[in-house]
Amino acid sequence: MQVALVGIGKIALDQHVPAITSSPDWVLAATVSRHGGVGGVPAYTDFAALLAERQDIRVISLCLPPVPRFAYAAAALKAGRHVMLEKPPGATLSECHALEGLARAGRLSLYATWHSREAAQVAAAKAWLADKALRHLSVTWKEDVRRWHPGQDWIWEPGGLGVFDPGINALSIVTAILPEPIHLTAATLSFPDNRQTPIAADLRFHHPGGAEVSAVFDWRQEGDQTWTIKAVTDAGTLTLTDGGAQMAVDGVRAAAQDDAPLTGEYPRLYSKMARLVQAGGIDMDLSPMRHVADAFTLGRRVTVAPFHW
Ligand code: NAP
Repeated sequence: MQVALVGIGKIALDQHVPAITSSPDWVLAATVSRHGGVGGVPAYTDFAALLAERQDIRVISLCLPPVPRFAYAAAALKAGRHVMLEKPPGATLSECHALEGLARAGRLSLYATWHSREAAQVAAAKAWLADKALRHLSVTWKEDVRRWHPGQDWIWEPGGLGVFDPGINALSIVTAILPEPIHLTAATLSFPDNRQTPIAADLRFHHPGGAEVSAVFDWRQEGDQTWTIKAVTDAGTLTLTDGGAQMAVDGVRAAAQDDAPLTGEYPRLYSKMARLVQAGGIDMDLSPMRHVADAFTLGRRVTVAPFHW
């Protein structure tokens, strides 16, 4: 199948292009970018022109930041194209519901991707937790914003999510592996004095079985980076590290680990998108985003030191 990639920035070049070009399912048929392209691939600067001129391209993959993404996704669906959305699937829950409505009306596939759910050990963690009684679950997602988002000012603007941009990846794993739904009960959000989005967040959740569930996200961590989820149960402790690439139960590592975070995640997303288009399905799980919206609704705001690149 032919796919057009829109928004040729960091994640498009780091992950989407290699995943598409190595896939047996996909051909990168065009790019849409205001600034650049991918060598040897027809490049458009105007999305409307691509939709009008390339009726042969039935699938659009959007790698833009969340705020500008809705207009592109809506235009693609209205033009009868299947759409794959980077995470988070939009800037607001309402616009995601609107996109789903357009996809249903047009009998088109729409995929809200959550790349961290495709990390190597997430399915194994879900299977292990399925028959255990959870006592505690803690998420520690601490990374250096200067290292992973160099110069990306959109993350500090309204709709850019701040530290929830990586934090939502942790929430996408938690919502996938826990057998029962949780909901947010309290949050503290730390906003740099000169920015519109938080640099750190502390979250507490209600768990139907009474387990203590919490998450700490922080973008100020230099040196070692931490993407860990620890679940203490009646039958042992499961630890997911490196964003779900590695897993251990009571300190014993599971087999078949990926080497590093992100390895294999995007090839698995594109494989799922191929199956979704072939089967004519929609996959729009918004639960990670709902928790983020709840944190902005319920969160106590704390002002911290200004952030400069
Ligand atoms: P980025 O490099 O800052 O931006 C991606 C591209 O989007 C830009 O190069 C630009 O493409 C286009 N764009 C930006 N603002 C636009 C606007 N106002 N209107 C139209 N196009 C615009 O961001 P990114 O890191 O790739 O992140 C994009 C999405 O991927 C985010 O939702 C992020 O959460 C997700 N993601 C990022 C990472 C990561 O490691 N960075 C990992 C996983 C997921 P052109 O210059 O080509 O027009």
